[in-house]
Amino acid sequence: MTVYGTRPEAIKVAPVIRALEASDALDSVTVVTGQHREMLDQVNEIFGITPDHDLDIFEHGATLSLIVARVLERLDPVLEAEKPAALVVQGDTSTSTAAAVAAFHRGIPVVHLEAGLRSGDISTPFPEEANRRLTSQLAALHLAPTATSKANLLRETISPDQVVITGNTVIDALLTAVERKPSFTDPELESLADAGGRVVLVTTHRRENWGDTMKGIGRAIGRLADRFPDIAVVLPIHRNPLVRAALLPYIEGRSNVTVTEPLGYGEFTRLLALASVVLTDSGGVQEEAPSLGKPVLVMRENTERPEAVEAGTVRLIGTDENRIVEEVATLLTDSTAHRAMAHATNPYGDGHGAMRSVAAITHLLDLGPRPADWGTEGQS
Ligand code: UDP
Repeated sequence: MTVYGTRPEAIKVAPVIRALEASDALDSVTVVTGQHREMLDQVNEIFGITPDHDLDIFEHGATLSLIVARVLERLDPVLEAEKPAALVVQGDTSTSTAAAVAAFHRGIPVVHLEAGLRSGDISTPFPEEANRRLTSQLAALHLAPTATSKANLLRETISPDQVVITGNTVIDALLTAVERKPSFTDPELESLADAGGRVVLVTTHRRENWGDTMKGIGRAIGRLADRFPDIAVVLPIHRNPLVRAALLPYIEGRSNVTVTEPLGYGEFTRLLALASVVLTDSGGVQEEAPSLGKPVLVMRENTERPEAVEAGTVRLIGTDENRIVEEVATLLTDSTAHRAMAHATNPYGDGHGAMRSVAAITHLLDLGPRPADWGTEGQS
């Protein structure tokens, strides 16, 4: 059984669900919690997944505790009815940790996809760093995306027998999506693509950036658009009303800023492929953009994804308004600085993460051999 509730989880579990469906040894049952609503449905649609159960917990303005409480309450009867042999959760959302607790209470082994990421600071990202650490305590099988994440788990005294390095399944999803090259539903984006000018792609939604920090991000975007009238800034804006209220007043009314509703995954990856510079506080985007050779400036103080920072395609720039403006300006005006960051690197996966994940789950259930760690069978 796979349980997921938000857009980033859906993107990363979709390839695993498809691989489970193709497996001879295992059957697949999917449960969505609906922690995000439209953004989740968008992803299910693109990967052709129809959930077997929908806990439908979404409520505007729900607190984290309410989300956790609802998942626990509504998942438990589904676990009782379906009696899964194992339960797969992904990453670090409230959905994933609550589902892991519910499974643990029923003695169902928890499989943690994208295990072992650590920022080192329990309060950022919030609440994700705490969620991922809690899930690590409950999991019977840890599917670590990279050698770094495996090392983090071993440092926390998790047994190496319980950890398999799979590569991040976001790369499986990305490779599937970019191949499709969908048209943009927003005609403004289609014209931007035709015009072939420089695009700065911005995404921001992190909870710890809400409020004044996000207003500063909004002001930085506005200043950049005014300073570089020849560039197009594109912001697919998160559904959260707090994010919208903080950003929109500072960026609206400019002809070179396009604010869109959240894009379907295929359209988003096409936009990513078009971008000259990516400015983000997203986790998933930090993993995808390096694959496409895009420089990424991350508006956070730390990251649980150090691999692309080490490879030189991602830079942590924090959230200070002036610093954001200067860092983006440098990449727009200094071609040597841009070139130094714009090289394709794949530290997060090779597109076969889902296959390795399903092999590891099959092994957990004594139905097949243990797969080799990604990287030990030839990292690409
Ligand atoms: N994404 C998308 N449409 C958008 C913006 C992002 O499909 O308009 C995808 C993006 O490719 C990445 C994921 O959503 O895979 C990231 O989600 P988000 O930033 O919400 O969460 P995080 O990764 O930070 O947990």
